Amino acid sequence: MSEFASGSLTAKNIHLSFGSNHVLRGIDLHVPEGTTASVIGPSGSGKSTLLRVMNRLIEPDQGDILLDGRSVLNDNPDVLRRRIGMVFQQFNLFPHKTVAENVSLALRKLRGMSKEQAREEALEQLDLVGLKQKADARPANLSGGQQQRVAIARALAMKPEVMFFDEATSALDPELVKGVLSLMADLAKGGMTMVVVTHEMGFSRNVSDTVTFMDGGVVVESGHPEQIFTAPDTDRLKGFLSDVL
Ligand code: ADP
Ligand code: MG
Repeated sequence: MSEFASGSLTAKNIHLSFGSNHVLRGIDLHVPEGTTASVIGPSGSGKSTLLRVMNRLIEPDQGDILLDGRSVLNDNPDVLRRRIGMVFQQFNLFPHKTVAENVSLALRKLRGMSKEQAREEALEQLDLVGLKQKADARPANLSGGQQQRVAIARALAMKPEVMFFDEATSALDPELVKGVLSLMADLAKGGMTMVVVTHEMGFSRNVSDTVTFMDGGVVVESGHPEQIFTAPDTDRLKGFLSDVL
């Protein structure tokens, strides 16, 4: 059984334009409960925009988004953002707050916990990412990899049903990437539903259940990692893989 109260996520025929730039051109993505979907593709293909539409930081022009089979487009966006945790390339921790305060802040504000309750919950989440001993440190005294793990703890503290990662390791020094990827792999194994935009082809191939290759605002190919990486169908995917592998 899953450690997480995770749910399925579905995007149906998502279209979005920025002015005359038609960035998402009919995206379909289905992530079954407890599985990890990685999204790969060249820069500018619309990956970040897709994540932002799916947690309603941007409203789509067309299409639907379903959590656990139910459309969320008419729900309060703030409610949805509590159900979907998001981790970005930049960790965006508050520099003047301690690690524990960074994790507990949203618990107090959004979940109405008392200071003591929120700290206890924060310590539990920090323990999960291996950083309980850093609870009272400031972010600046942590490595980039540790700061990103704090950002993950902060997202997990909200008990999301789905986690989004947008190039979560791209800003890290190479030697720090492994620790963050292994934490993400642990979450995946623990049954969290995840959408992971990544340039880490090893993670995509070895950890994710499905791989979606986007280019030019469309899903060009999507399937099992083995198929995507060893038997790509299209020249576009073949070209992309030969550039990044
Ligand atoms: P990726 O994450 O795959 O690199 P993005 O989703 O960031 O791609 O960008 C897709 C396209 O949308 C690009 O052409 C980019 O310039 C454009 N774009 C992204 N965000 C905005 C925005 N806020 N306003 C206008 N154009 C944007
Ligand atoms: Mg991006």
